[in-house]
Amino acid sequence: MHFGTKLIHNGHEADGATGSVNVPIVQTSTFDQKERFRGGADAKAPEFEYARSGNPTRKALEETIAFLESGAKGYAFASGVAAISSVLGTFSAGDHIIAAQDIYGGSWRILNTFYKRWGLKSSSFDATDPQTLRKAIKPETKAVLLETPSNPLLKITDLLSCTKIAQEAGLVSIVDNTFMTPYLQRPLELGADIVLHSATKFLGGHSDVIAGLVVTKNEALGRAVYAVQTGFGAVLGPHDAWLVLRGIKTLKVRMDAQEQSAQKIALWLQANPAVTEVFYPGLTDHPGRTINEAQASGAGAVLSFKTKTPQEALKFLGGVDYAAPAESLGGVETIISYPVRMSHASMPEQERQRLGITDTLIRVSVGLEDTDDLIADFDKALSR
Ligand SMILES: *Cc1c(COP(=O)(O)O)cnc(C)c1O
Repeated sequence: MHFGTKLIHNGHEADGATGSVNVPIVQTSTFDQKERFRGGADAKAPEFEYARSGNPTRKALEETIAFLESGAKGYAFASGVAAISSVLGTFSAGDHIIAAQDIYGGSWRILNTFYKRWGLKSSSFDATDPQTLRKAIKPETKAVLLETPSNPLLKITDLLSCTKIAQEAGLVSIVDNTFMTPYLQRPLELGADIVLHSATKFLGGHSDVIAGLVVTKNEALGRAVYAVQTGFGAVLGPHDAWLVLRGIKTLKVRMDAQEQSAQKIALWLQANPAVTEVFYPGLTDHPGRTINEAQASGAGAVLSFKTKTPQEALKFLGGVDYAAPAESLGGVETIISYPVRMSHASMPEQERQRLGITDTLIRVSVGLEDTDDLIADFDKALSR
């Protein structure tokens, strides 16, 4: 089965009870257990008891994402951040986590505030150089958190090299696969142990739901994540699970079109005199292009670029008509964002400077509008 077929045929294409071609939204908090008690003293507990510990709609999404990511178990959370926090919740005070330098701002924040207070230690490494991971490993290191392409500078991490180093040191490798989705990149096939998503982005795809997903390589890691999911309770509701299931069906056509458009826009930006730098792994001169081509089947639909001055960046953000200056990415509409004020606002200025996240940097998530209209919109906003 090819991937496009898997998106449609993944074991949830017809409901057993009614034949409905869509997974029903089972909007309930609890399940009647009469049968259990009629079955005598040692009758088994039913599969669904209480909707925090399990819900059929959520289960359909969890099985679908596990299948698409080539994993053993899937779990759905109330947000991408809830997914990351719940995975980090499987570790203990005193454990040490190594995170890629430019991980998602929210992941950085949770590690450096909440989990820090609870005694989980963390440090960062330059994920464009896997050898620096080896040097960052301490006796108490338990895991490495990776993300490729990185946010917002689209740097590429060699997943195979990093997961190999992690494996040799007995570390759990965790990959945030939000930007690529399993259509373009499947980290578990490249040696990762846990893959996670903000399904708010490309998987949901329509900017209408906040959701997070986790897939584990094996059952044992799955049990650890499940204990946090049901214990901590940041679960995804059935209606939101259904929206993500619906979004997943069109992932391939959306990604293909958005990526094609992103490639054209990246080239156009590169040729624009108002733009000083363009970051997109599909560009020939991108330093991570070869690695990305080896581990992913595309460059995705997110790019970023720098203007000459912060004033020009602000003028661009205020000057576009079609693109929405907003948080988030991965929707059918083009979204432009200003990392210093948005996703990376909580990162100290000094840290941002070190990473090159400047006040001239703009991130673009290319949507499904006609490319020519987007280019005309950008052209107008850049030359205004
Ligand atoms: C948006 C995002 C998250 C956080 O997801 P939410 O659904 O907003 O909680 C995590 N990682 C990446 C790469 C993201 O883009």
